[in-house]
Amino acid sequence: MTVYNFSAGPAVLPKPVLELAQKEMLDYRESGMSVMELSHRSSEFDEIIKSAESRLRELMAIPDNYKVLFLQGGASLQFSMIPLNLAQKKKKAYYVVGGSWGKKAYTEAVKLSKTIDFQPELLASSEDSVFNHIPTFDASTIDKDAAYVHLTTNNTIEGTTVYELPDTNGVPIVADMSSNILAVRYNVADFGLIYAGAQKNIGPAGVTIVIVREDLLNDEPVLSSMLDYRIQSDNDSLYNTPPTYGIYMARLVFDYVASLGGVDAMETRNVEKANLLYDFIDQSEFYSNPVSVKADRSICNIPFVTPTDELDKLFNKEALAHEFKNIKGHRSVGGMRASIYNAFPLEGVEALVAFMKAFEEKNKG
Ligand SMILES: *Cc1c(COP(=O)(O)O)cnc(C)c1O
Repeated sequence: MTVYNFSAGPAVLPKPVLELAQKEMLDYRESGMSVMELSHRSSEFDEIIKSAESRLRELMAIPDNYKVLFLQGGASLQFSMIPLNLAQKKKKAYYVVGGSWGKKAYTEAVKLSKTIDFQPELLASSEDSVFNHIPTFDASTIDKDAAYVHLTTNNTIEGTTVYELPDTNGVPIVADMSSNILAVRYNVADFGLIYAGAQKNIGPAGVTIVIVREDLLNDEPVLSSMLDYRIQSDNDSLYNTPPTYGIYMARLVFDYVASLGGVDAMETRNVEKANLLYDFIDQSEFYSNPVSVKADRSICNIPFVTPTDELDKLFNKEALAHEFKNIKGHRSVGGMRASIYNAFPLEGVEALVAFMKAFEEKNKG
């Protein structure tokens, strides 16, 4: 039986990318070395990181006045780096909390505000309704002089997405795009800063992409050089040893996405995959999707439940036996979650729907 990996991250990678990496594993392009063995200062690696950046620039149409950084520490370290770097002059920052990751970002900001002069403010939250929709707010309540408005474009755990960016009264938007970067088209110029852990739509865990508008880079040094966007940028992400193999894999994935037609083509495929599953769930009286506002539904992460916890448990057990890996919902929300990022094949969604149909027939009672 074919294995389908529904993991939310680290997630499935494109097979052709893994095959190419395998082919180049022992001898990277006649260097006689594996990519893992190359110096990060070598000409071979210089070509890898530069082409990774230029491919990403093409794919996302990143304007020239934005820097692209390849960092470490995951999306979670950005929860601290963003206020440390961006709130140097302007002290206020707003948080729109539409899911558990956004809440973590806000919680880290509050923690940091006890140590540095910085005022994070909760602008909107949908926590009261277990994050079942994207919260809205009135832009006129935003102080024009604030450093940024932070939001999460795709709430990985709850399965909601910001498709239309909100009016922020001219204040730059800082976005955690970890789970839908390269899966949904956004206009980079609408953001002050975008960040994403690689392990969902880009490559293996270990690389964090940061895309930041140059004028937002910090003027003063921050706490530590490793946490300093200006230093990372001045050193072209080579201030210290970067995650070289992860950057190489990201480059291969970028090439692969480009070969399929880029982000617009990925989005079209992702919509097709997601609709297949949503249409099935919507016509069923057995399954339901917890998102209350249809327009907010994610095309990357699709949570769903059966009528009871017992049946959810049984579903997860039987799905696993059926070689559907990692479809169990996040421990905080339960149920099931199908993460169907760029590399997840349409056939996997078709197989899931067939399995769901059969399970419903057997258990609808
Ligand atoms: C997975 C995820 C994170 C956490 O990423 P790490 O790289 O593990 O720190 C943060 N935000 C979102 C939206 C995510 O999906």
